[in-house]
Amino acid sequence: MIKIVLLGTGGSAGTPQIGGADGFGDWGELDPAEPKNRRTRASIVIEAPDGRRLLVDTGPETRLQLTACGIPRIDAIIYTHGHADHIAGFDEIRILNRLLGTPMPVYATEKTMDDLRQRFDYAFKPWTGGGFFRPAIEPHLVAAGESLDILGLPIQLIGQDHGYIPSLGLRIGGFAYCTDVVRLDDAALAALEKLDTLVIDCFTNGPPHPTHANLKQALAWVERLKPKRTILTHMGLNMDYAKLSASLPAGVEPGFDGQVFCFDFP
Ligand SMILES: [Zn+2]
Repeated sequence: MIKIVLLGTGGSAGTPQIGGADGFGDWGELDPAEPKNRRTRASIVIEAPDGRRLLVDTGPETRLQLTACGIPRIDAIIYTHGHADHIAGFDEIRILNRLLGTPMPVYATEKTMDDLRQRFDYAFKPWTGGGFFRPAIEPHLVAAGESLDILGLPIQLIGQDHGYIPSLGLRIGGFAYCTDVVRLDDAALAALEKLDTLVIDCFTNGPPHPTHANLKQALAWVERLKPKRTILTHMGLNMDYAKLSASLPAGVEPGFDGQVFCFDFP
């Protein structure tokens, strides 16, 4: 059994965004009374059958997300891409190091690893033993299209078009996580066939966006790929939970922070 925890399902600014007439946040078209409309930045945890956990991205709320979801330890991290809303919590690796007792295995493409090194160069210095007074990582370069084993999980990495940069999607068995994507080429679509559960980027129900799928695009992918269950993530200010829940086609639902589901493995 593999367990997935959606730590965060919000867009790059989270919801509500900073602002609002009363200062308690700009909710846009979201109902502030619905707790599921309060969303932190997109990130998930994948828990392997042996209990080890792979964290996907470290956004600015990593500490709040892990403590809110009751996750006491992370065994490896993979990055989808180097945007701030996916890496800004990188420094929390220091505490994760203390729990793990070793440098953290970190998987990323060469471009994303370069982004991380530029922003957090102090974490790339070799660990010389002793306490973790800064984050320490063990970098592993990966590439789109590759299949690899992380923590005993067979992971297929999917190349995605995120507008101005590429991003990585992940597939494990019948589950796939595809955040921060605006276009999928034929190779990516082929890698996403016969899914049980697809977690997919859907930033807006408005017109096409330069870097993220809108609802029309996400539903077009669902129509083509026919996953049994689809969960929307990376949602912005016009993606109200209750309104979406009432209007989406069968098998498609908006995700929410803290959502958990399991699937059989292998
Ligand atoms: Zn992004």
